[in-house]
Amino acid sequence: MKHIVAGQIMHESSSLAKHPTEVENFRRTLIWFEKNDVFQLSEIGMRDYLTGIIEKGTELGMEIAPCFCTFASPSGVISASCFQTLMDRFFDGIDTDKPIDGFCLALHGAGVSQDEPDVEGAVLEEIRRRFGYEVPIVVTLDPHANITRKMIESKALLLPSKLYPHTDTYETGEKAAQLLKDLLDQKISPVMHVKKLPLLIPITKGCTDEAPMKTLLEKCSEKETIAGMIACTFVHGFPYSDIEECGASVVVITDGNQELAQETANDIGDYVMENRKDFLSDCLTVTQGVDLAEALLARSHGPIIMNEASDNPGAGTPGDGTFLLRELIRRDIPKTCCGAIIDPQTVALAVSAGVGARINIMLGGKTDALHGTPVALEDVYVKAITDGKYNIMSPMTHGQPVNFGRTVRLQKGNVDIVVASNAFQIMDDGIFLLLGIDVKEYNIVSVKSAQHFKAYFEKISGNIITVDPPGISTGNLETLPLQNIQRPIFPLDDI
Ligand SMILES: [Zn+2]
Repeated sequence: MKHIVAGQIMHESSSLAKHPTEVENFRRTLIWFEKNDVFQLSEIGMRDYLTGIIEKGTELGMEIAPCFCTFASPSGVISASCFQTLMDRFFDGIDTDKPIDGFCLALHGAGVSQDEPDVEGAVLEEIRRRFGYEVPIVVTLDPHANITRKMIESKALLLPSKLYPHTDTYETGEKAAQLLKDLLDQKISPVMHVKKLPLLIPITKGCTDEAPMKTLLEKCSEKETIAGMIACTFVHGFPYSDIEECGASVVVITDGNQELAQETANDIGDYVMENRKDFLSDCLTVTQGVDLAEALLARSHGPIIMNEASDNPGAGTPGDGTFLLRELIRRDIPKTCCGAIIDPQTVALAVSAGVGARINIMLGGKTDALHGTPVALEDVYVKAITDGKYNIMSPMTHGQPVNFGRTVRLQKGNVDIVVASNAFQIMDDGIFLLLGIDVKEYNIVSVKSAQHFKAYFEKISGNIITVDPPGISTGNLETLPLQNIQRPIFPLDDI
């Protein structure tokens, strides 16, 4: 039986976020499993890259030996000591008593540490240093990976998932296990080509259910029907990491045909660069967005979901931005709810006052000066308190534990406000349900998310309106203090 090491270190790091990411950030996400404890992820029914790898790998008759699995909600750059701890857990978890036939890993691709701009490249480099270049490595990546020289030089086969919202992570894990199995059985001899593009794609333009990504996805799928093609993936990259090697890329894997891999990557790359202007962000301002919501109210079948792309904790933002919140409170439209404002100080105040109390608060806008100032609110009613824990119900990463920490439901006029302690992107209505809010009964539901919320909310929403006020995950990349990205690159430079 083939002995396969499986593991995961997953973090999308925003160099623009104020606070570094520590071990505590990983711990509180509730995904920190060592060695065989990793199998518990299957027991809780989590559908993600690593469970796809483990379950498919086992089904294919390989002996899967997990070393370590962790994930933290996207946040600031990983501290040097935290990165060292993650590396230690990962490598200490590898069973070296018997020969290793392969590695099948779930990495992100946009991890940055204080002294290592390429976390995934460093993991792969260390595997090669310890175990040599003979042993095959297959790695799944997030579509927001910034593919780097180190990753390519590691000779690992890179298999990014394709969809945004990322609803194909489990299937990508399965595909990775199959690829490794076929390679070990010598049914295929995969080769890879990566084409890096001088292009930054804002998260506001990433949705693969909409133009221009939808067309691009179809083009890649078409390429995959060519004989000998194993995978053709367009990788969005993650500008907000602000490392030299930020940017989009095309990754092609073929069965032994290097020329085909290169040609295909060039074809897709040329198409993208010719159409680069289609990837420019074009969202509404808060005022425009709320105006539109009011105009649509009477004829919307289902709640109007207003998402705030620029303060998306799923891209490492603080989640305490107040631009949209302030406007929704000002307009006081009947049946409005907002989730989730991350403000542990306000949560503590509400909890100590208790359910049924009325309090005066300064809500949000506390982390930095980039996401708006605190909103002063008087006579706010404390409706409910919860521990903020549940498992994701969305088709994306279904079953994943979520931990918003202590969370409260506050009411001001017609507006219900969910205020949480830990930053986490709104993926579904779980946090609302914990607090007794049925979003289907509301006129307007605001969420802090760029795209992932759609995997769940699309089917229950009447309309979706994206607004993009200032914030460190804005689609307006030229407004960000990006310093390290290799230039020239579109749209920061006119290419
Ligand atoms: Zn992503």
